[in-house]
Amino acid sequence: MILIPDVKNKAIAVFGLGVSGLATCEALVASGAHVFTWDENPKARAKTANTDYRAEHPKQWPWKELAATVVSPGVPLTHPKPHPIVRKSQIEKIPVIGDAELFARAVNALAERERPRIVAVTGTNGKSTTTALIGHILRDAGEEVHVGGNIGEAVLSLPAPEARATYVLELSSFQLDLTFSLRANAAVFLNLSPDHLDRHGSTANYLAVKKRIFFNQTAKDLAVVGVDDEYGEAVCTEQIARELAQVIPVSARGALGRGAYALDGKLFYNFEGKTVLAGDIADARGLRGSHNHQNVAAALAVCAQFGVSPALVVQSAKRFGALPHRMEEIARIGKTLFINDSKATNAAAAARALGAFENIYWIAGGRAKEGGVASLRSAMDRVARVYLIGESAEALEEQLRGAAPCALCGDLETALGRAAADASASDAAAPVVLFSPACASYDQFANFEERGEAFRRLVGELTETNGAAA
Ligand code: ADP
Repeated sequence: MILIPDVKNKAIAVFGLGVSGLATCEALVASGAHVFTWDENPKARAKTANTDYRAEHPKQWPWKELAATVVSPGVPLTHPKPHPIVRKSQIEKIPVIGDAELFARAVNALAERERPRIVAVTGTNGKSTTTALIGHILRDAGEEVHVGGNIGEAVLSLPAPEARATYVLELSSFQLDLTFSLRANAAVFLNLSPDHLDRHGSTANYLAVKKRIFFNQTAKDLAVVGVDDEYGEAVCTEQIARELAQVIPVSARGALGRGAYALDGKLFYNFEGKTVLAGDIADARGLRGSHNHQNVAAALAVCAQFGVSPALVVQSAKRFGALPHRMEEIARIGKTLFINDSKATNAAAAARALGAFENIYWIAGGRAKEGGVASLRSAMDRVARVYLIGESAEALEEQLRGAAPCALCGDLETALGRAAADASASDAAAPVVLFSPACASYDQFANFEERGEAFRRLVGELTETNGAAA
């Protein structure tokens, strides 16, 4: 657990009692704070029974004494409108912060020689994969590594900061919006495409929040920027111009004069004026597709900065297992490969998955995001047929009309049954049933994990009926 400086005997409110909220309460109490908590969900509140941070309605909080309000990343700060707790805190002039800010304060309280190294990763897509991959490579290189944030453990549950350790943190835009004093020794901005506009109001706002990953960096630090989309390109140019950190561009789209990039499954880098082949990553099974090659290029830039040899980065990347629900190979039934990419909750993520295969039987749909799937029409030459589910199915069919044959399937079970039968009956030697929904899951499932688990279970049932090897 991480102890927080300067909170002893201070009153601090924690709103939102999910995993990170509870970890925050524990850390604050252990640091001597008086903690006042609430969650709109009674089940979450129940978890505070028999603790030193019992839930108490915000009306009862000592507002005049509060030193900070710590909110969970799910709480709207600005859009569609500030949550009443945020509004009240603003009126009372109480800082509204998140758990990553408390982590940053704990690290900033250390003397320079005691500071651990911090790697922070953000982007619309690829955060979890890149965070886990950097952790995996640094561990392979013999480093002591703690991975947390938006992935795995809450930041404040990680072991206390020590000079030997490296913290690799995944930070969503919601978390960055609540973080002010974090200084990342290596900050990674992977990519940006319009997403979460309901919470950030506009793409410009969303971008501004994501750029906070570079806050407080110094000339000794590293800024790694994916340049495969127009926003990333602009961010890279801006960071180079600002000269606040060393900037390394990364790409999976084309060769770069300087930086790290993947081209046709090969990973190259040019950090000091000479282009060097780091190795072949085409057969890294846990990192399929060019999007994952962008993630590997980013990991190479970070790990090389910390002294890991590029050859080890490649070896380690090849041993990396795909995270659940991200381009995860579930089974091969006969000639058909089944891929679970339930985490693809927007068109940009699904575009990358579609780019990784041929002869695709694509299952998509759910709660549509801004723009739907219209941007994916050009990827339809790789798709034999689309199987649409969820509340957006008809709208998505409209957007894909003329680009690919679509079948309205209603639910996942129907879609999978039809996709599997069509793939198996096709002439293709190696068809792929790809579940990469390009939509949020909330219309039919609790979250993308539950949706991915449903796909896994249904494929498992198919495997049993077909008696095939998974
Ligand atoms: P995040 O944590 O940012 O949501 P994940 O690593 O969990 O990212 O991947 C989410 C989805 O995005 C998956 O469908 C994955 O295949 C896709 N994806 C992963 N990396 C990238 C990338 N660099 N660019 C675009 N899409 C990506």
